[in-house]
Amino acid sequence: MTAAKPVSIRHLATAQPDFEAAFQQVLHWSAETDSAIEQRVADILADVRTRGDAAVLDYTGRFDHVQAASMAELELTQAELKAAFDSLPALQREALESAAQRVRAYHERQKEACGLSWQYRDEDGTLLGQKVTPLDRVGIYVPGGKAAYPSSVLMNAIPAHVAGVAEIIMVVPTPKGEKNPLVLAAAHVAGVTRAFTIGGAQAVAALAYGTATVPKVDKITGPGNAYVASAKKHVFGTVGIDMIAGPSEILVLADGSTPADWVAMDLFSQAEHDELAQSILLCPDAAYIAKVQAEIDRLLPTMPRADIIRASLEGRGALILTRSMEEACDISNRIAPEHLEVSSNEPHRWEPLLKHAGAIFLGAYTSESLGDYCAGPNHVLPTSGTARFSSPLGVYDFQKRSSLIEVSEAGAQVLGKTAAVLAYGEGLQAHAQAAEFRLKRG
Ligand code: NAD
Repeated sequence: MTAAKPVSIRHLATAQPDFEAAFQQVLHWSAETDSAIEQRVADILADVRTRGDAAVLDYTGRFDHVQAASMAELELTQAELKAAFDSLPALQREALESAAQRVRAYHERQKEACGLSWQYRDEDGTLLGQKVTPLDRVGIYVPGGKAAYPSSVLMNAIPAHVAGVAEIIMVVPTPKGEKNPLVLAAAHVAGVTRAFTIGGAQAVAALAYGTATVPKVDKITGPGNAYVASAKKHVFGTVGIDMIAGPSEILVLADGSTPADWVAMDLFSQAEHDELAQSILLCPDAAYIAKVQAEIDRLLPTMPRADIIRASLEGRGALILTRSMEEACDISNRIAPEHLEVSSNEPHRWEPLLKHAGAIFLGAYTSESLGDYCAGPNHVLPTSGTARFSSPLGVYDFQKRSSLIEVSEAGAQVLGKTAAVLAYGEGLQAHAQAAEFRLKRG
């Protein structure tokens, strides 16, 4: 059995003279797009734009092996979604509802904290503010090619619902027509408005351009494979998109106080997603790193996805010995990981030093997997270092903001003079005079 071999994950130490070069190799990930995929996606998008439903039906037959005579056959009714929910064992129904309830509660707080309109008045009575409105209609892409992701339904649809989006259109491919009851049930729990069993670039195109059956949306969110990611990039501008997610990542910052097998399993939990996923341990204690390596070797053969985990750990993983926890925090900030576990008995000592991460999991009991499913915060997170400038999917992604300005008569006397000076400076006379006409004469 191949999994019985020790895992040759890279060991680095910041004290080594060649650390920087080795570290750069760990970080290296080619986000280059495959030109064959790009071309194929461009063709599919153009075809769906021209032929609408007929093209979607053709591609669904070709890629998902579902032959349907009309798009109506590919729409899931609300009754079907509810029936899927009712058919689940009680344990699964309760888990879905409990996860949904926590995700909803978290995003309701988020809306209160950063999703509400605000305004104020200047001393001269001028009102200024920001009006927050939900998007009218969004599309959520739920991947379904190789695995089913009910948690992705919750994480995309619930913030949209909390934001006040009126219509949530879900698409999910069902290869060979096999519908996953948990995905359908999650759509019921999360309050999806309409759902279609279509996927890939053709589903993204249907949502972006609209067809006779699939309504055109304002924004598309949700993860997917290379075809989906490429299609989202192409339609950006016609619609909004959330982000383009790369392979999943976990970084564990450990001070040696957490049982080593817990940390080994946390590293596996992202590695099992796919061969390109990245798991990194940063720790100032060499003996503890050796213990984690021993646990990795002991536990790997017990994993059903051992081959994927091994490929990910050996290809992109690293166990890095640092000179201190402070240095570990600095390196973590340079990586800006998607998931960052602070596996320490004093996590609040280190948290203030951590600036860049999609989600920060504090303390030994906070396994990243709890955040994936049910803690409450969103599991759609920036990857590939983009946490330096972007944020988790949230209520704010399903809202937009309009500025509000109501200038009082007194305010117009002051602002009008300033605006006119600047407008004449730009050579825009109408701008200047629109301001000056409102100045009191004489
Ligand atoms: P998918 O739904 O993204 O893709 C399936 C579709 O790909 C098919 O319906 C088909 O239309 C299209 N496709 C497949 N082969 C094609 C070809 N040769 N030509 C044109 N189109 C083709 O499902 P998937 O493949 O299972 O990928 C899901 C991805 O989403 C994985 O990479 C997974 O890791 C990722 N994911 C990420 C998160 C996250 O939160 N970041 C969550 C869940 C899944």
